[in-house]
Amino acid sequence: MGTPLKVLFVEDSEADTELTAAELVRGGFSPEIQQVETRDDMHNALANHPWDLIICDYRLPRFSAEAALDTLKESGKDLPFIITSGAVSAEDVVSLLKRGAHDFMNKNALARLVPAIERELREASIREQRRRADAQVRVLSQALEQSPVSVIITSPEGEIQYVNPCFETVSGYNASEAIGQTLGFTLLEEDRLQIMEQISSAVNSGQQWRSEVCSLRANGELYWENVKVSPLTDIDNRLSHNLILKEDITVRRNYEQQLLRQAHYDDLTGLANRVRLIEQLTQALQEATQRQTLVAVLGIDLDHFKNVNDSVGHSVGDFLLKEAAARLTRCMRPGDTLARMGGDEFVAVLPNLNDNTTAEKIAQSIVEQFTEPFFIIGRNYFVTCSVGIAIYPNDASNPHLLLRNADLAMYQCKDQGRNQFQFFTQEINDQLIDRLDLEEKLRHVVKRNELLLHYQPIFNLADNTIVGFEALVRWHQTDGTIRMPNNFIPVAEDIGIIQEIDSWVFKTACRETAKLLRNSEGGLRLALNISPRQLEIPGYANFVADQLQAYKINADQLEIEITERVLVNDANTTNDNINALSELGIRLSVDDFGTGYSSLGYLQRYPLHTLKIDRSFVAGMHESDNSHRLVDTIFLLAQGLGLDVVAEGIETQEQRELLLKIGCKQAQGFLFSLPIAIDELQQKIELQLHSL
Ligand code: C2E
Ligand code: MG
Ligand code: MG
Repeated sequence: MGTPLKVLFVEDSEADTELTAAELVRGGFSPEIQQVETRDDMHNALANHPWDLIICDYRLPRFSAEAALDTLKESGKDLPFIITSGAVSAEDVVSLLKRGAHDFMNKNALARLVPAIERELREASIREQRRRADAQVRVLSQALEQSPVSVIITSPEGEIQYVNPCFETVSGYNASEAIGQTLGFTLLEEDRLQIMEQISSAVNSGQQWRSEVCSLRANGELYWENVKVSPLTDIDNRLSHNLILKEDITVRRNYEQQLLRQAHYDDLTGLANRVRLIEQLTQALQEATQRQTLVAVLGIDLDHFKNVNDSVGHSVGDFLLKEAAARLTRCMRPGDTLARMGGDEFVAVLPNLNDNTTAEKIAQSIVEQFTEPFFIIGRNYFVTCSVGIAIYPNDASNPHLLLRNADLAMYQCKDQGRNQFQFFTQEINDQLIDRLDLEEKLRHVVKRNELLLHYQPIFNLADNTIVGFEALVRWHQTDGTIRMPNNFIPVAEDIGIIQEIDSWVFKTACRETAKLLRNSEGGLRLALNISPRQLEIPGYANFVADQLQAYKINADQLEIEITERVLVNDANTTNDNINALSELGIRLSVDDFGTGYSSLGYLQRYPLHTLKIDRSFVAGMHESDNSHRLVDTIFLLAQGLGLDVVAEGIETQEQRELLLKIGCKQAQGFLFSLPIAIDELQQKIELQLHSL
């Protein structure tokens, strides 16, 4: 089988066609042929079949070689066109070749035909390849022209040879300005050398280079680009061009920078925020370690800022915070970091110190900055501040601990009256550790059964008989020591386990004293202290009712001591509980009366039975002095309101007599009895019964 060859003959003589075809077969082809002799037939044949070759007779009765060439041209096809003929003039041959015929051959000497066809097929195929390549180049260059990405092509040395329209738009340079420049001409002067070195070392080793760079537009504006430089090579694998693709990422970079800012700075004051502060502090500590210097961390808190914020609103509060930030900034040295940690809490990091004096001076100046009031919307606000200082490496070795220790020192300032600064000390640390230790132990105090009760009798002043007793809780610690309630009740309230403790006290006191109470036939009462937190529990009164029922105690033999604090707060649940307790018939007394608030309106609002005059008044009492007059007034007031009075903390005979004179009927105090264990109380009461 020969090479397939589709040949269109434009010929009027079938014999000639066959002759030529036979020549092709001899030459190794297996031709598939069609013969046409008019324009229309040729037109149709071209349209309907893929041809490899046209062999055209020069002389045709109803057609001509010229017309056949035109028909081929019209079809848009590029096929080898070989003319065969008898005799023909040299001029005609030349004119036909000019018109596009590829070869000319004498019908009587066809020996040249096969090599000519082979050559023409080869050339046609080359022409076809070139056409395809041209078409591809056209598509690619259009793509470049329309690309939304900037494209630059340079020589291997980096001289710009081509820029696309996107580059022109983005950079503001037109092609004629850019061509001939070096690749990095839009880069910032200060970055150029370094970036160009990186690029050339990458492309010279055949690698791509990519990065985000900052460039300058023709109008001087800065913009960010994502740049990719790729080496292009020729067939011999030599660097022929650099292809640079650039994307304008200014919008994204700006957004990122904004996010970065938001993540590191406080919106309100523009100061660094906690994240940035930790970063700066970490860095400062590293440097200090290398240079053997100190770093001070100042915890700064505005005193009573909450009052301003709560009373006059957040906009004034915000204003004040901004002004405070400005005042604090004034105290900083270059290189110090000032941050707002949230709320009214600020932290300053002072790096590079040789001793404590600079930190002390700066802390002092901060406190002084706040002695002037803040003038906001026509009003002065006095807000001072407290500053705690922790020093690296002396007080702690990591950012977290430094901040904590600065905070602890700051709280110490608050405890000691605010408006001052304090250095962190080991003592402060020990206090914290003790406190944490206490909290930990306190959490298990009920479960581990470490609590016990003492009872302090309440006496009738006139005849020294016991009329009741107050249960006072003690903590028998594992080391054998007894901890008094003032040393753990406030902590228990802070950490939220007071309810557990007070419930235990309630039940235990009821259990231990139920018999005494019943036997006294109403002559004795049990007084219990409860935390304000108890009254915040909805339905607390039900718990009380259940206990009374369980231990068969009359409601009027129970007295619940609450503090003035509770009554002034006037919260709903608390009020409901107080009223419910009162309805049960339980007596309510106000403990430590006189130490709380000056407003006494609550005395009429609540169903109270007893005022317990705080022992500080009794202790200071001497004839005709202030305390004495005050106690006297309290008595008149209580009488007017129909309330009983118990004087607390009687230690001397003199106090007893003064109280008697005033008209006080009941009292408690070491003069009569210390708080004692239940057995001892029982004995005392029995003794009293027998002596009657
Ligand atoms: P309070 O209710 O005012 O109790 C009186 C406190 O004064 C008792 O201290 C008592 O020992 C002390 N005291 C009594 N007479 C004298 C005296 O003549 N001179 C002096 N210097 N002190 C005297 P204690 O037992 O340390 O209790 C302190 C406070 O702890 C109580 O003050 C009470 O508010 C609270 N508390 C005690 N037990 C409980 C409890 O079970 N629950 C709650 N929530 N608080 C309790
Ligand atoms: Mg009490
Ligand atoms: Mg008291």
